[in-house]
Amino acid sequence: MTDIAALKARLPQIRIEDHPTLVRQKSRDFFWYSPVLKRQLDHITADCVLFATSMADVVAALAACYALDIPVTPRGTGTGNYGQAMPLSRGAVLDLSLMNKVLEIAPGRLVAEAGAVICDIDKQAIAHSGQELRLHPSTAKTATLGGFIAGGSGGVGSISWGGLRDLGNITRLKVVTMEATPRILDLRGEDLHKVSHAYGTNGIIVEAEMPLAPAYGWVEVIIGFETLGAAASFANETGEADGILKKQLAVVAAPAAHDYFNRHRAWLPRESHIVCAMIAPHNYDAFLALTRRRRGAELLFSTAGMSAAERKGLPDIYELGWNHTTLRALKIDPTITYLQVLYPFPNQLDLVEKIHARFGDELPAHLEFVRFDGKVTCFGLPLVRFTTEERLDQIVRIHEEMGAPVFNPHRYTLEEGGMKQTDAQQLAFKREADPKGLLNPGKMIAWDDPNYDYSPSRTYLFPGLQAVE
Ligand code: FAD
Repeated sequence: MTDIAALKARLPQIRIEDHPTLVRQKSRDFFWYSPVLKRQLDHITADCVLFATSMADVVAALAACYALDIPVTPRGTGTGNYGQAMPLSRGAVLDLSLMNKVLEIAPGRLVAEAGAVICDIDKQAIAHSGQELRLHPSTAKTATLGGFIAGGSGGVGSISWGGLRDLGNITRLKVVTMEATPRILDLRGEDLHKVSHAYGTNGIIVEAEMPLAPAYGWVEVIIGFETLGAAASFANETGEADGILKKQLAVVAAPAAHDYFNRHRAWLPRESHIVCAMIAPHNYDAFLALTRRRRGAELLFSTAGMSAAERKGLPDIYELGWNHTTLRALKIDPTITYLQVLYPFPNQLDLVEKIHARFGDELPAHLEFVRFDGKVTCFGLPLVRFTTEERLDQIVRIHEEMGAPVFNPHRYTLEEGGMKQTDAQQLAFKREADPKGLLNPGKMIAWDDPNYDYSPSRTYLFPGLQAVE
């Protein structure tokens, strides 16, 4: 059990809360998107929350928790959706959301503290010099930069820039280790992969330097098509049209778009399969020319020429994409869940057609077009009409048998969520940076059970989690 009195005695300068309601609230993320994670993790809570306001606070907090053997789970704003930010071994949640300053903005790059909210960073960069982050999650209005780097993968902007895993999309990270005397490391280049998308298991990111791109007042457009195939092939073509600058390119099948996008419903005929795009204003005419080359393409919605009053109450179009599509569907039909699928280049369009023909209404299509290893292809975040966990596993298996790898969002470990194998670089770094294994325990199988067998029929259950139950 966490010795909160001893922790408070060692850290008089840090706000430490142990009120059960607040602690529980800070111990949760969007895990409930998954009926599987909801069943497994709903009872999870830490013992206390530490609020860091500076790098010195993080260093002091980690040294104290190390000395007292208290597990530490870092937290931005808890929008992760695989239970990444949930403290499976209780202990302390380290809240970083008060470390929210933008420290420097220069041509092509900026430096910010890890707890800065992504939209606030963009607002400052736009006001400073008409620049913005290359990539952001669709949760940009609430998610932190550190949480995106540690828990996310890409999103809005990935159609032009690829994902966070691509070299150059993170410039530098300042990271604090979990040792008797915590070290402050500056990681660059290949070393960034030690901590990016590691769920905070091997160091706390306190500062990030990120590349910037020109900020355009992106035009939001929705184009309708008669078939899913036509919509997907148009999105693919737009993705490949390098002369047309774009930031977002998603496809949502009929009738899901009409049924689940409340605020845009008036523009969306129920039978239309839609492409949602963000296009640079000076390329809007070129984009419209591209749509006119497609028979049956219909312009359904555009913010070009729309007044502020007309836009009032409408979400940004990227908030219809990525995991927001799932959120909007869930609000209307709570039985819905989702998957995360890669349709590998060059067979993406064929695979999309085959898979959706096979599943029909059980799996309404949602595609996000991206650059992946430099090629235009798409991820699927299909909606799934959930029946049983066995059927969900079967749907995952069928995708993989058909050639579409699944990054399983119904698993809370790094390995099962996507890598399907140990990341040797992350594991080696964890031995150095977190020798007692106190950072976000239970999320890296390789640390807890080096000989674990990853056969698809098995699901890892963290022993610490069993002990808590
Ligand atoms: P949290 O949820 O608080 O943390 C995420 C992970 O990072 C946890 O493991 C946490 O322990 C760790 N962590 C947090 N801060 C630090 C730190 N400073 N140092 C080390 N570890 C840390 N993700 C995408 O990639 N793209 C999307 O488009 C996207 N859309 C989403 C839409 C919805 C509606 C939802 C619910 C989720 C979406 N996500 C998306 C997932 C999530 O929003 C992003 O990963 C987000 O950036 C997480 O930020 P956060 O501040 O909420 O992090």
